[in-house]
Amino acid sequence: MAIRPILIHPDPRLKKPAADVDTIDDGIRTLAADMLATMYDAPGIGLAAPQIGVMQRVLVMDCVKDPETNPRPMVLINPQVIAESEDRNVYEEGCLSIPEQYADVERPSEVTVRWLGLDGETHEEHFTGLWATCVQHEIDHLDGVLFIDYLKPLKRQMITRKMQKLKRERARA
Ligand SMILES: [Zn+2]
Repeated sequence: MAIRPILIHPDPRLKKPAADVDTIDDGIRTLAADMLATMYDAPGIGLAAPQIGVMQRVLVMDCVKDPETNPRPMVLINPQVIAESEDRNVYEEGCLSIPEQYADVERPSEVTVRWLGLDGETHEEHFTGLWATCVQHEIDHLDGVLFIDYLKPLKRQMITRKMQKLKRERARA
């Protein structure tokens, strides 16, 4: 397991759709293990493969926040939203590729997602609450969409400028 560097917005790889995974092989198993290690290290509750520069439809998440509750690391390959609620809710979202910036985003409050597991089986689950927000945010990454794309252009440009500055500072350090 290796912790991989997380790409920071703006980066062309964060704006490109990722490709479906055809076969679950050792490469995908290693990728998933590295992604979980990278997510927990950050720390974050979700990470999509394009965020580490891998253009494949793989995401990991674990939205268990209570330290008394066992972690629930999930790996979703080729995930698809197959149903969403009419009900919507607003969460203040953040992103490991847009550090320390948060904004309200409105999404369906419940979604049913189908994906391929590392076991090669098709899985389906109905997500609510933070899990529903997280899985939609991560699937967006696989389509080259960031949470700031839902914001008003001015706010988005302000955040992008901050990230450009952060990247310049990191490059100099
Ligand atoms: Zn994100």
